[in-house]
Amino acid sequence: MIPHETQHAIPSYLSKDHIGAWGIFLQQVERVTPYLGELGYWVESLKRPKRILIVDVPIKMDNGTVVHYEGYRVQHNTSRGPGKGGVRFHQDVTLSEVMALSAWMTVKNAAIGVPFGGAKGGVRCDPRDLSMAELERVTRRYTSEIGFIIGPDKDIPAPDVNTNERIMAWMMDTYSVNQGRTSTGVVTGKPVSLGGSLGRHDATGRGVFVVGRAAAEKLNLAIRGARVCVQGFGNVGTSVARCFHNAGARITTVQDVSGTIHNDRGLDIDALVGLQASGEPITALREAETIENDNFWDVPSEFLIPAALEQQITERNAGRIQTRILLEGANGPTTPEADDILNDRGVLVVPDVLANAGGVTVSYFEWVQDFSSFFWSEEEINRRLDGIMADAFATIWETSRREKVSLRTATFIVACKRVLEARQLRGLYP
Ligand code: NAD
Repeated sequence: MIPHETQHAIPSYLSKDHIGAWGIFLQQVERVTPYLGELGYWVESLKRPKRILIVDVPIKMDNGTVVHYEGYRVQHNTSRGPGKGGVRFHQDVTLSEVMALSAWMTVKNAAIGVPFGGAKGGVRCDPRDLSMAELERVTRRYTSEIGFIIGPDKDIPAPDVNTNERIMAWMMDTYSVNQGRTSTGVVTGKPVSLGGSLGRHDATGRGVFVVGRAAAEKLNLAIRGARVCVQGFGNVGTSVARCFHNAGARITTVQDVSGTIHNDRGLDIDALVGLQASGEPITALREAETIENDNFWDVPSEFLIPAALEQQITERNAGRIQTRILLEGANGPTTPEADDILNDRGVLVVPDVLANAGGVTVSYFEWVQDFSSFFWSEEEINRRLDGIMADAFATIWETSRREKVSLRTATFIVACKRVLEARQLRGLYP
């Protein structure tokens, strides 16, 4: 038995009984621990974030009242490099969720081999209730409050649910004003005219497609003609749907917050994107039938792509899913219980920590380009992105076959070994 790094009791908010996404992450760490060999000595460091910051974000609303929002920035692990991870604006965001998301960033960054640790942030607000001016004030005050723990060589935020390049530009400006110098490298996912990278907008969806294609090759499954169901039609959902569509697949079902639409012959993705651009719900698409949201999980497909929020696939619906490959575009869409049901039923689950790593890969390219102020062509970026994603898939596939484990556990084996090796080499201070 390998002695643990420390025998101290886990603080209550970190325990695996803690409800929510963090509890799921702890279960995933438990599953990987038997495969870590001597590095298991350090495994406790994965079970507690390095740094948690909770901030008050007070905002003067357009009507003159003052509203207080709760904001978080969690740096889970920085053994392999500065923290890296998105910022989410959502009314239901919790500390547990941000902790889990930060930990999955640690795993993701190590799995694809970019030199970052894991971090994540969030503000508990509903951006749909905010005017543009209020949204800007929330963003700027939040950035200012977390300003002392972020920075190009400390922790680099990026977009996530309900945040975008507009918000990244405000974050970059706020941080820069407070520093007294322009610091483009403090966030990624910026507009291209402000030091952003070509290819970043579609990078996550493109990466999901690249690993999906690699997984399909292993199952001898053709992309052309394959049926694809996508939950979430935001940044990730739109880009991945377009990639599959361009490769000849049929996007038969799309669900977003406004409803679920279906057409067995394939939905018109360009028309759907056009509807969104004009502010209409996806349910307004002609040549598509609207189905009950819950029936989304019953639609037969070759690829099912959750690209919305966490914990969408649970014990409740995992037994109903009829797909060959579950490609996790979203973070944490599948609970461990659902994972087991899907594995038993022969569904290949390509986990979030591998499948959606394309975004952070191009964020890494953006960060490198900002440091050198030398910008690459989109072809160069896409070529490097495809290479990194395909190599990561190959390594993780080989690990999963060798160890006879799921792709998720294989990804955790590869990633946690890298993180803990760095931990061991750096040693413990003092
Ligand atoms: P987004 O805000 O652009 O889009 C979210 C989509 O989900 C929207 O279409 C929304 O309508 C839909 N949605 C929200 N609640 C829903 C519900 N209850 N049921 C069905 N649909 C719902 O966000 P995004 O950037 O595309 O992120 C989506 C997921 O991908 C998140 O889990 C995020 O953490 C993950 N992710 C994003 C990136 C990135 O680069 N944007 C990178 C890695 C992972």
